[in-house]
Amino acid sequence: TVVTRFAPSPTGFLHIGGGRTALFNWLYARNTGGKFLLRIEDTDRQRSTQAAVDAIIDGLQWLGLDWDGDGVSQFERKDRHAEVAHQMIAAGKAYRCYCSPEELEEMRAAQKAAGQPMRYDGRWRDRPESDAPAGVAPVIRLKAPQEGQTVLNDLVQGEVTVQNAQLDDLILLRADGTPTYLLAVVVDDHDMGVTHVIRGDDHLTNTFRQIQIFNSMGWDLPRFGHIPLIHGPDGAKLSKRHGALGVDAYRDMGYLPEAVRNYLLRLGWSHGDDEIISTEQAIEWFNLESIGRSPSRFDFAKLENLNAHYMRLADDSRLLDLAAPRLEAELGRALTDAERDLLTRAMNGLKQRARTVVDLAQSARFYVAPQPLSYDEKASALLDERGRGLLKELAAAFAAETDFTAAALEAQVRGFAEARGEKLGKVAQPLRAALTGSTVSPPIFEVAELLGREATLSRIRDAAG
Ligand code: GLU
Repeated sequence: TVVTRFAPSPTGFLHIGGGRTALFNWLYARNTGGKFLLRIEDTDRQRSTQAAVDAIIDGLQWLGLDWDGDGVSQFERKDRHAEVAHQMIAAGKAYRCYCSPEELEEMRAAQKAAGQPMRYDGRWRDRPESDAPAGVAPVIRLKAPQEGQTVLNDLVQGEVTVQNAQLDDLILLRADGTPTYLLAVVVDDHDMGVTHVIRGDDHLTNTFRQIQIFNSMGWDLPRFGHIPLIHGPDGAKLSKRHGALGVDAYRDMGYLPEAVRNYLLRLGWSHGDDEIISTEQAIEWFNLESIGRSPSRFDFAKLENLNAHYMRLADDSRLLDLAAPRLEAELGRALTDAERDLLTRAMNGLKQRARTVVDLAQSARFYVAPQPLSYDEKASALLDERGRGLLKELAAAFAAETDFTAAALEAQVRGFAEARGEKLGKVAQPLRAALTGSTVSPPIFEVAELLGREATLSRIRDAAG
């Protein structure tokens, strides 16, 4: 069975590219009935933090990407990594190198002066241990093949080849006994039974070195798939301004996880011309063949369109739960039960127009804002003498209305406008300004019905002055 994994380094938040890598691995596992594992690559003790681990887990959970079994800490497996390095020495596949930092520096300087690429020259490869200088802790290096080539049949990139002469004897275990990233990843992928390594193509060079380690141990290779990185809309490397943010930033900007998931899926994977792909469909359709070979470009407008779509589908009480904290922060108080009830009923009208949860909270505000409402510029302009005059008359008509429903109120305003030789909008717009403080809102008669007779009349009277 298929085993995939997501292997983030906890040195920062779960950024959007990491979220996509996790999504692809998760989808492939779910599509094939396999397993999706989480491994926290926390071997860099200086840069790894618990806060970052928490942020990554939080981000994955928000995106709805659940992993199988417990997450694995790479650091906790360091003894196993060292054990493998020693096994490789015993098998003649690795050796101890006693070069001092000064010696390596000299080697580099000489290569640089000769215009050669910097690579370890293998000087301890065949030197007897009896030459070892006293008191120097050695590193362990891989005895990498020096001739021939290493070929990768990448699931996304196709066949990629590197000349072995270009790869030097990489360090497996540092002088302090800690494993390098390259060793740790190979040992863990092997021990965890990973069958498919799907990750960003910035790891391509690492992969060749990792293949050499797999081969030295005589271990089966996993399949590799390197996904092109995400670029900005201008084709350059993704910058903060263009979306290179943590997944949590997307939550804060008011995006729904299902929209972000759909967006990330389409960022590098396609299914015909489909743009809107539910998670169920994604699980059913996902394959590695349809991952694109060229970098995808991040496009906020597309994400927003998808989000608007998923907002309209979302459950009203869920939307209220998402919008409420923002509203409460703005009002500086908790919403009452009656307000929550009103807003839940109002959600259906509000969500038709909102592109994000931030929009939604903003557009819901008038329902619960302090009275009298404050009117924006355009609304104030409608509440001129003529507008106020109309509203006064309208208040009287509404007060007499026994059936306070959108349909009845609309019929009444239509009759009211006709009797005065006005278009409906000439009356409806001042009414909208009075009820919402703005000139854009959900259908105004629905708003009036939701507010109810008392609140509607008092808002009209406030506006009529
Ligand atoms: N820890 C690596 C990173 O965060 C990923 C390693 C891998 O996927 O093999 O870039």
